[in-house]
Amino acid sequence: MKKLVKLILVFSLVSTLFLNPLVIDAAKANTLAALRADLKEMEAQKAKNDRAKKLTTSQIDQASKGIDSAQKEITTNRGKVEAAKIKVEESNKEIDKQKANMKEVIYAYQLATGNNEYLEYVFNADNLTDLIYRFSVSEQLIEWQQTEIKKFEALVRTNEKLQVDLANREVALNKEINNLESRVVKLGNQLAAITEISVDLVDDIKSAKEYIKFVEKAGCGENQDIDYCLRVVTDTGFRWPLNSGRLTSPFGYRKDPLNKKRTVFHNAIDIGGNAEGTKVFASAAGVVGKIIRKASCGGNSVFVWHNVNGKKYTTQYTHLLSIRVKIGDVVTSESVVGTVGGGSQTRSYDKCSTGAHLHFAMATGHYGGAGSNSYSSYSTYLTRCFDAQKFLGLPAKGVTFSGR
Ligand SMILES: [Zn+2]
Repeated sequence: MKKLVKLILVFSLVSTLFLNPLVIDAAKANTLAALRADLKEMEAQKAKNDRAKKLTTSQIDQASKGIDSAQKEITTNRGKVEAAKIKVEESNKEIDKQKANMKEVIYAYQLATGNNEYLEYVFNADNLTDLIYRFSVSEQLIEWQQTEIKKFEALVRTNEKLQVDLANREVALNKEINNLESRVVKLGNQLAAITEISVDLVDDIKSAKEYIKFVEKAGCGENQDIDYCLRVVTDTGFRWPLNSGRLTSPFGYRKDPLNKKRTVFHNAIDIGGNAEGTKVFASAAGVVGKIIRKASCGGNSVFVWHNVNGKKYTTQYTHLLSIRVKIGDVVTSESVVGTVGGGSQTRSYDKCSTGAHLHFAMATGHYGGAGSNSYSSYSTYLTRCFDAQKFLGLPAKGVTFSGR
C-alpha cells in the first residue's frame, strides 16, 4: 500500500515536527472514559496537523513565488544582455566611422601643411582667411572625433562589463532557483505526509466516534471494562482469511508496485488468486473495531480486535469490494467481514491496488481500542504489524493453498 509506505518514508522527517505518537499506556483501562481521552488526543493531533499543513502550503507558495521572480529576472536580464550586445556593435561601428573620418581629415590636414601647392585644390579655399578657418575647423574636427571615439570606447567597456555582470547574475539566479526547487520538493513531501496523516486521523476519529457510540448504546458504564460489558469472545488461534488463494506479495520491504523505482515497506501480505466478490473471513473470533470506507489508497478496510490465548491482536482486511460487518460486531472465524476487491470494481476510488487481492495485516494490540496494549496512532500500528505468512504458516509466495 503506497499510502502506508510513503508515510513511513517521510515519517522520520516530519515526526519530530508534527507527530507525537500517542503514548501506549500498558495499564490503561478498557473503558469509555479511556476511549474518549484517546479521541480528544486524536482531535488535538488533527488540529495540529491542519495548522502544519497550512504553514507548509504557504511556505511552498512563497518558494514558488521566489522561483517565478528569479525566472522573470533572468528573462529581463537576457533582454538587457541583448541590448548591451547591440550597443557594443553600434559603438564599434561608430568608432570605425569616426576613425575613417579622422583619417580623411588628417590626410587633408597633412596635405594642407606639407604641400602648399595642393592647398587650393584640397581645401578649395578662396583666400588665406578662409584657409586658416579651414585649418582650425580641421583641428577642431579631429579633436571632436577623438573625444567621440573615447566616448564610444567607454560605452563598449560599460556594455561589455554589463554582459559579464548579467552572466554572473544569471548563474546566481539559477542557483537560487535550484535551491528553491529542492525546497519546494521537500515541502511537497512534507505536505503529502501531513495530508496522509490527516486523512488517516480523519478515518481514525470517525471510527473512534462510531465505536464510542456503539459502546454507549450497549449500555457500558463510563469506567466499566468494555470487554466485560460486551462479553467479547476469545479464541485459541487464527485461521486463513480466505478459503483458497496464493501469496502474491510478502510482508516487509519491496519494490513499490505503483512506482518500481522506490523501495517501500509493506505492512501486510497480499493474497491473490481470488476474483472480486470472494468471501473474506475473520481470521479469529473478535470484535470489529474499525472500518474505513473508500479510502483513496486502500479502499474499504475492516479491522478486527482479537483476544487469542490471552494476547491482544488486530487483523486488517483491505481493498474490500464490500464490507459485511459494522463497528462493534462480534465475529467468529466463520464470519464474513467483506469480499475481495482491489480489481476493476474498486479502481475508481482505490488508487493503491493493481489487481484483485486481499491485503491482510496482523498486528499486536488493539489498533483504535481502549485498555492495555491499545493505541490509536496509525504510525504506532505500522510498527506493531508482523509477518502473517510466518505466523499463520502460509505456503511460500506463488504456491496455491486451499482450505482454511
Ligand atoms: Zn498489500
